[in-house]
Amino acid sequence: MSRIAYVNGQYREMRDASVNIEDRGYQFSDGVYEVCEIRDGRIVDLARHQARLQRSLRELRIDMPMPLAALEIVMHEVVRRNRVGYGIVYLQITRGVARRDHAFPTTPVRPAVVVTARNLNLQKNQETAARGIGVITVPENRWPRVDIKSVSLLPNVLAKQQAREAGAYEAWFVDRDGFVTEGSSSNAWIVTREGRVVTRSASEGILAGITRAVLIEVLAALQITLEERPFTPEEAYGAAEAFVTASSQIVMPVVRIDGRLIGSGMPGPIASRLREEFHRFAVFS
Ligand code: PLP
Repeated sequence: MSRIAYVNGQYREMRDASVNIEDRGYQFSDGVYEVCEIRDGRIVDLARHQARLQRSLRELRIDMPMPLAALEIVMHEVVRRNRVGYGIVYLQITRGVARRDHAFPTTPVRPAVVVTARNLNLQKNQETAARGIGVITVPENRWPRVDIKSVSLLPNVLAKQQAREAGAYEAWFVDRDGFVTEGSSSNAWIVTREGRVVTRSASEGILAGITRAVLIEVLAALQITLEERPFTPEEAYGAAEAFVTASSQIVMPVVRIDGRLIGSGMPGPIASRLREEFHRFAVFS
């Protein structure tokens, strides 16, 4: 089955889908994106993703190209046309097409919209979660506006590649003060030996993850104590558990950081429980 993408008003076969070479997303990474999980063909926590999308656009002064309701229809249609049961839908909006000049176009241009969707392998994901993943730490080298979900991801790309070459799955950035900020495509968490769950505050140099926000509600419901504060790699090495969160992985246990085993070296009970409980608290549309 050929994959279908939505590109600026049209549903196209992926191999025929293209964007203009002067799209500012291509030239300057002048755009934003969202990734939502699909479960049973439904989009998980769409309203939260829409709210973050609007915020990212506002921060970059890119106009919303179509009403949210229309965008939602397009996203569902792309999911349907690609027959995605379990997987992700990807949405990208760039400032649009204009003759190359760093400053914004002086005459209004229409923001460019691309939506794609694809199946992921649920069983493989579950197997990875049952084993747990390895993480390496790398120096934070991103721009300070990581709160904007921009398509400008070069440091994240390089960090992830470094992780892969080290036989790990994810890289955690460490800021100048020696604290973990977040993963290259996930938020970072640890569980203390007292059973408290620790993650950095969303207002301090990280992307405000949607999975993170929902998980904070899960923790409250399960009466598990949350500490929103920074932690160092050293604290993480000695933690009872660690995990990462992202829409495409939900809660993914971390069992190795910089080659050191975390806890028992197996996914811990809290991370595993949070992974199981998560979708009871998610909103499907
Ligand atoms: N932090 C970064 C840098 C990310 O790229 C992502 C997701 O891709 C996240 C955190 C997790 O965000 P969410 O839970 O909204 O997927």
